[in-house]
Order: sequence, then C-alpha cells, then structure tokens
Amino acid sequence: MSRLLIANAQVLQVSPTGSNVTILEEQDVLVNGQRIEAVHPTAAVDPSHFDTVIDAHGMLVAPGLINCHAHVPMVLWRGLAEDASIDRWFNDLMWPLENNLQPEDVYWGMLLGLIEQIESGVTSVADHYFHMAHAARAVEQIGARALLGYAMFGSQGLNMIEETASFAQDFQGAAHGRIRTIMAPHAPYTCNDDFLRATAQIAQKLGVGIHIHVSETPQQTIASYRKRGITPLQVLQQTGVLDVPTILAHVCGATPADIRLLEQYDTGIAHAAKTYLKLGETTAPVIEFRAAGIPVGLASDGVVSNSTLNLWETLRLMALTQKARTGMGETLPIAETLAIATHGSAKVYGQPNELGAVTPGYLADLVLIDLSGTHHQPLYNVGASLVYNLQSTDVRTVIIDGQVVMRDRQLLTINKAEVIAQVRSRMDRLSYLDPAKRIQTYDN
Ligand SMILES: [Zn+2]
Repeated sequence: MSRLLIANAQVLQVSPTGSNVTILEEQDVLVNGQRIEAVHPTAAVDPSHFDTVIDAHGMLVAPGLINCHAHVPMVLWRGLAEDASIDRWFNDLMWPLENNLQPEDVYWGMLLGLIEQIESGVTSVADHYFHMAHAARAVEQIGARALLGYAMFGSQGLNMIEETASFAQDFQGAAHGRIRTIMAPHAPYTCNDDFLRATAQIAQKLGVGIHIHVSETPQQTIASYRKRGITPLQVLQQTGVLDVPTILAHVCGATPADIRLLEQYDTGIAHAAKTYLKLGETTAPVIEFRAAGIPVGLASDGVVSNSTLNLWETLRLMALTQKARTGMGETLPIAETLAIATHGSAKVYGQPNELGAVTPGYLADLVLIDLSGTHHQPLYNVGASLVYNLQSTDVRTVIIDGQVVMRDRQLLTINKAEVIAQVRSRMDRLSYLDPAKRIQTYDN
C-alpha cells in the first residue's frame, strides 16, 4: 500500500456536536493506503519510508467536503436557465433542454463537474442523474468518491425500477469501493405511490438507501395536502420509502409535524441554500431539523440552478440565510456551521464514521488549504475564515482515498483541457430548446 506523509501542517478539528473548532499546530498526517494512519505533532521522519511527502508548512489540512445532493452532469447547461421561477425553470427550460441529453454527454459532463468539485475541495458527491454507468466511468477515472443513484420518473414505468436496480447492484463497491449506489426516484410529485412502494421494496431487498427530492417548496406541501390530504413526507412514510436510509433533498416545505415524523427515521437532509435563493424560494428550516436531531448536510443541487458546485458558497449562504430567517446573528455559529459541512454531511452521505474528519482510521479524503491570502489577513479566527472568507482557489491540494488527485492546483488524474473541449463541442446540440419536447411537466 502506498504511504503518504503530509508534514508540518495545521489540522482542523471540528467537534461532531458543533460546540467547538480546534486548530492543531505543527502536525504530521500519515496516510497508509486509503486511510489516515496517524495525526501527531511533527516529528523527525525518514522520508524514504513514504512514497509521497508533502511539505504542508503554512497549510491547513481539513476533511474534503461532501456534496449530499447534486446532478453533476447538468454542468452541460450552466447558465441556460437564469432569472426564472421554479415553474418556468422546469417546464420552459430545464426539462426541454434535458430532452437533448445523450448517454455519452453524461460522461463528459460528470468529468467537468468532478474537476470543478476537486478544484474547490469537494471529494465526495451523492449524484442523482441519468445514464449513470457513464457517470461511474468518470468517477472511477478521475479518482473521486461518489454515491450514485440512477434517477427515474414514475412515467417511465415499473420496468425502470428494475433497470436502475441493476445499476445499483452492478456498481455497488466499484472503483475500489469509492462508488456506492442508492435508488433514486425523482420526487413524490413525479412518482406515484405504487412506483414509490415498488422502489422501497427493491431498496430493502438490495440493502441500499433512497435519494429523493421532497417538499422542495412550501407550495409543494400545500399542493400535496390539497390533492391527497397528506404532506409529501407523509407520502414517503406511507409508501415505505422512509423505512430504508434516505437522503431527502431540500425539504424546504416541511411542517412542524413533518419534522416530528422525520425524527423517527434514518434520514438526512441535503441543503442547497444558493439554489433556493436563486429560484426565489423559501429556504429550509435547518435550525429546526438540527434541534430535532435530524442530520443536515451541504448540497449544490445541479448548477443550472446553483451556478457552481462550490460548497463553500453553500456553507456561507446556509449560515447567512438561517441568520436572516431567524433575525438573530447568533444563529448557526461558526463551529456548528463547520460541523454541518463535515460530520453532518458525512452522516447524510451514509459514511459517518469514515468521512468528515481528519482522524486516524478515517478514509484519507483531505484538502490542503492556503490561508495566506490577503482576504484572510491578519488571521485571528481560522473557523471564521473558512466559513466567510475562503475562496475556492485557496484549496491547493486534494487527496481522495489516499491518492493525490490535485497537487498545488495541478490536476493529476485528468486532462482538463480535453474535458472542456469535449463539453464545448456539444454546446449547439445541448442548448437546442423546444418547450413542446420536455421530458416531464412540473405541476405543483
Ligand atoms: Zn435536485
């Protein structure tokens, strides 16, 4: 197994409860194979005992960020659905544009998005999209970690559940364990009860979880209540979806009763603060979820709503929007915000004891951050700088599963210029817009 030494670093330690942040000075982080072997004060070592030695003097070692809900290949349409309401965003723009998608596009879109994630220190992603064998190929090639769900709509018929279940089976544990799989029905408003019930049964049988959009807006909750007399979360409860571990994307329309319901299940919330702001929608009750003990993790959603896959933006906007919504500057203090970004996201992602901390025994998904930039000076409060000041280019080096994938901003596993050229060569075909040819209709 290859051995890596990160020498002379500062190390970020965040308490799981969010009560404090500690910066350990002058530390060595030893990585053996996929895992962190030790974190201890810098000591004299024989470099010949290591395959790679990184002198991290002046750098902060932090856990790689985890994106709990994304549609990474949607980078293919970045910038094509701006200044739109959620109805127009789906019906006139996104769902007609996705009619142009071909399987090979997913591979190149996934690669471009994974590059963007690595460049901003995001090492894992729970992705929810189409043609996922092509997404898996990209994840394997670039060396990222991913939890992949093959998205499906109820209108595709029950056979689609079998097809996506085959993907979940075939790719579970792929890329030396860096890929895990999950079932991915789109939402309660695009999948009827029989479809959700059948999906939950297959997920139980395969021993995997479910990743789904739910209660994205208060309006969806009202519409469900009018049509059915129950909320979208109650639909998930009644169809058995909540009986397996779930990633629930957004949940901005949760009622107080929904929050009490979620307390009883193994579930986590993927929170994409920037997307809600851009669509002019209400943000999620993060404070109330946390108070009820429901895990919350960071998410980008797709970049057609979120513009970037930079989770530092999500982190910052989550803290700011929760302060604004409660009218209190004390809301979501720095340590708790960082606990959501690390331990919280790892829990939602389903690997709480392996990801989200620089701790011996954990998987070696690490980022080296340079805090010497003017926008951090003079540096009194590293935690505050991470939440409110950091620019994604401050991330200098990224390690995933013990492998260095970016060193001093140079990508080591992929030719970025080729990926950008491939995506650009698809722009004309992918941007063709015929609203009559949408893949779904949004009616909420
Ligand atoms: Zn989404």
